[in-house]
Amino acid sequence: MATPLGNLRDLSPRARDTLAAVDAIAAEDTRHSQKLLDAFGIRPRRLLAVHQHNEQQAAGQIIERLARGEHVALITDAGTPAISDPGARLVERVREAGYAVSPVPGACAAIAALSVAGIAEGGFRFIGFLPAKTQSRRTALTALADEHNTMVFYETPHRIKACTADMAEVFGGGREIIIARELTKLHEEIAVIPLNEAEAWFAADANRLRGEFVLIVRGAEMPNGIDADALRILGLLLDELPLKTAVRLAAEITGVSRKGLYAHALKQHQ
Ligand code: SAM
Repeated sequence: MATPLGNLRDLSPRARDTLAAVDAIAAEDTRHSQKLLDAFGIRPRRLLAVHQHNEQQAAGQIIERLARGEHVALITDAGTPAISDPGARLVERVREAGYAVSPVPGACAAIAALSVAGIAEGGFRFIGFLPAKTQSRRTALTALADEHNTMVFYETPHRIKACTADMAEVFGGGREIIIARELTKLHEEIAVIPLNEAEAWFAADANRLRGEFVLIVRGAEMPNGIDADALRILGLLLDELPLKTAVRLAAEITGVSRKGLYAHALKQHQ
């Protein structure tokens, strides 16, 4: 179940009731979560540690509890479990063991940032944290350079400058980035700028390098005004038909120019 990103009032009434009612709460960092529980006057019957390094083993213990008829809630330090956080393996194991797993939705940093990004078109691709090492990060970004969907990243304060600089280099400085910092907290800031202005934005105020960040980057522009639907249809036809036939049919179905689709199809087949 989800817990607040910073503003305690974002804990939903249902989450609060659930935390108070369950037999045990599995938490990523029990000391951290104790503060949340204290703030709501919730005294858990049992607090269990479930983190990245013990998820498999903890799953076994939780399944034993469920077998005794207990109810267990899973929370992480902030936001929604299993989203760049522990939880997915536990959910898988518990479900495999035959027990129901039910979400108690609430705050999620990626979704909160997307909700204020102001990007109407297309879907989004959640990337989460990029690799920490420079070379691997650049390789990962290069693989995303042609992604048409909006991309959502999590990043830590000590890599934020290097990461946005790499993005500017790989995606091009003109691409728009939304830097969503300290969401729901006192120093919340949301900047919508071209990637080549990110460095100056951070330099303008040293405090901007502190806190927590979601980075949203607009997807690559569609070639020659070809929209996502046309590309999807072209892709499906290319899987089944020779290139020329696929392009001709895609142009007829979508009304997009044959020339543009042909150039795109050739690129896909390189
Ligand atoms: N599962 C959580 C979620 O979905 O919100 C995310 C957990 S992940 C370990 C932590 C990262 O989420 C941070 O490094 C940051 O990128 C992002 N994040 C969490 N709280 C945030 C906030 N208040 N403002 C901006 N980003 C935040």
